Amino acid sequence: MESCVFCRIVARQIPATVVYEDEHTLAFMDIGQVNPGHVLVAVKQHAENIFALDEAQAAAAFRAAARVSRAIRDAFAPQGLSVYQANGSAAGQTVFHFHIHLVPRHEGDGMALTWPVKNPPREKLAEYADKIRARLG
Ligand SMILES: [Zn+2]
Repeated sequence: MESCVFCRIVARQIPATVVYEDEHTLAFMDIGQVNPGHVLVAVKQHAENIFALDEAQAAAAFRAAARVSRAIRDAFAPQGLSVYQANGSAAGQTVFHFHIHLVPRHEGDGMALTWPVKNPPREKLAEYADKIRARLG
């Protein structure tokens, strides 16, 4: 997609600081850098979100995320690392080309995600699980 900023990065039409590349993925420094060492892993072939990934892209994206995460850990020695991936505006996605954030973390670094736990009864969990399993085939 010509208008997609990540497609343009993959095509090397926009500069990016690349740290890793394979057949299906390109990993580069996020210009936002929540913390030093913050990397984005994007699929090369345009896919809007996780729902649009094919099996090869999905496998490659998470393989690359694990590999680059280990390198970030070794290079920056963070206290932790958050993997963040958003699908759709309601989830906080702002660039509509599948990507995974790898964010080195430190106590008190200010990055936050609210987690409004609902704790439904077990019968509800079974009902939710049935709905998902019915669609997994
Ligand atoms: Zn794209």
